[in-house]
Amino acid sequence: MDLDPWSLLKASLEGNDSGTAILSIDRSSKKSEILIKNQIFASLEPEFDLNTFLCKKIENSDFSTELIYITNGTILEASFGKFQFPEGKKNKEYTKFFIKDITTKQRQEEEIAWRLRFELGVASSIQILIQQPSIREGLPQAIYQLLYFTEMDSVFFLKYETVGKKDFFKTWANERKTTKYPLLPEKCQTEDWYDLGLGRWVHKLKKGKTIYLDPNKALPREKWFFEQTKAETILLIPVRFENRFLGVMGFFKYKQNSPIEHENLLIYQTVSRWMGLFVQRDLDLTELNRYKSTLESLVLERTVALTKTKEELEHAYRAKTEFLAHMSHELRTPLNSIIGFSKLIQLPDSDETGKEYLNYIYTGGTRLLNMINEILNLMKIESGQIQIQLTSFKPEDICRQTLDLIQPQANAKGMEIRFRPPLQSKVIHSDGGKIQQILLNLLSNAIKYANHPYIELDCEWAEGNLEISVRDFGPGISEEDQNRIFHTFTRLNDDGKIEGTGLGLSISQGLANRLGGSLELKSQLGQGSIFKLKLPEIIK
Ligand code: ADP
Repeated sequence: MDLDPWSLLKASLEGNDSGTAILSIDRSSKKSEILIKNQIFASLEPEFDLNTFLCKKIENSDFSTELIYITNGTILEASFGKFQFPEGKKNKEYTKFFIKDITTKQRQEEEIAWRLRFELGVASSIQILIQQPSIREGLPQAIYQLLYFTEMDSVFFLKYETVGKKDFFKTWANERKTTKYPLLPEKCQTEDWYDLGLGRWVHKLKKGKTIYLDPNKALPREKWFFEQTKAETILLIPVRFENRFLGVMGFFKYKQNSPIEHENLLIYQTVSRWMGLFVQRDLDLTELNRYKSTLESLVLERTVALTKTKEELEHAYRAKTEFLAHMSHELRTPLNSIIGFSKLIQLPDSDETGKEYLNYIYTGGTRLLNMINEILNLMKIESGQIQIQLTSFKPEDICRQTLDLIQPQANAKGMEIRFRPPLQSKVIHSDGGKIQQILLNLLSNAIKYANHPYIELDCEWAEGNLEISVRDFGPGISEEDQNRIFHTFTRLNDDGKIEGTGLGLSISQGLANRLGGSLELKSQLGQGSIFKLKLPEIIK
């Protein structure tokens, strides 16, 4: 059977899922003619003015794809394809012409784009709230995002507050797409919502329920709200945190009969849940700041009190130092007379008792004078009044002079002092008198507290420092007493048999520090003690 080529072509077009036609266009006159078409094409053809469309296309030689919007809402896609037709006439060209109904596809794409935009708006508004340290600063901007990316015309956040038993809502943010739309009525901020006839709403919101209303569904007493706000649809969603009612997210639409889709409603509720988190964070921060400022003022108060106490103490301390220095001086003068005159009084040899009493006066006076001298010395060190007299000398010379002075005390106890001078004879730049005072005290202690045939006095240079050690083989000092003995008036095992004031070591340590050095103790009970005086070669 011999089939005609046109019938074959037509049969092949029927297999297409879009309306397809073969078009011939006269090269010179630009007139077009549809040669064959499939059934889909035939059914779509009456939907629009095919002739005008083709004329325009051919005239402009524009064969790009084009969307044709039809008033009933249908969207058609028209496109052209090259077509080789060897049997055709020379003065004509042939084109394949497709028309497709893409209404559903287009609607779906628009819907997806809208949803993307919507979700982008929600995400970016949440992002703003996350980034801002305070919700008050971020809220208007966040709400703006919601407005511009969603279907809503007005969005607001009302913070819930109670005064006594009254329910109030304070506007934290109220943004509109244009200023044509009114803001929330002023009385919504200042009056109890129950008194405004909106008690049903508050009741529901507090229970966590969403209010989604249009004027037709509103109760008569609620109608004024729609009239004043001009809203056609209102959506009020409770903002909560852990069952605590914090406020309301509100949304208005001004277009009539424009319901909110269920899916979108869920998204608005999600936004409101997030809001709960941010509001709570804001409340926590405010509370924290309140504590912080109370704490700061408390610290300030305490600091002032402490400074005052410190000043009072310093004043008292200065007064004490001055008093003691003064008193010591006052005491010294009459004491010197007592001691001096007790020495001068000549009693007959027969007056044994008188001589004994005189001796008491003399030794008692001397002891008292020593103590007063030491107190005076300590006061001077503590108040920083002690004067340093710097000279250059060899330390071994000072050691020898000190030995000469202390020798009688050692002899009286039958003790030997073994002295080891430094291997390297070097000059020190320091206060010789003060060093001697320290050494006298250390040696005198060693003689007083140790019962051993000898004590040792070592003088050496170590790493540029002078080290003078006084070593005894006496009772030693327990670890816990080693710190204590440098405190004023501390005496160990004070049974009154050994004379002393408990001031010598405090004075010695104070002097050592004043000379830029230190006084250290190494001791073990039963093994004896080593007091080491460390001094720099030159006082800095
Ligand atoms: P004082 O000797 O006048 O009591 P110090 O301040 O010089 O005062 O000494 C404080 C106390 O430390 C002494 O009372 C004594 O108990 C103890 N002490 C000092 N040196 C030695 C020592 N070499 N061995 C044992 N105890 C000592």
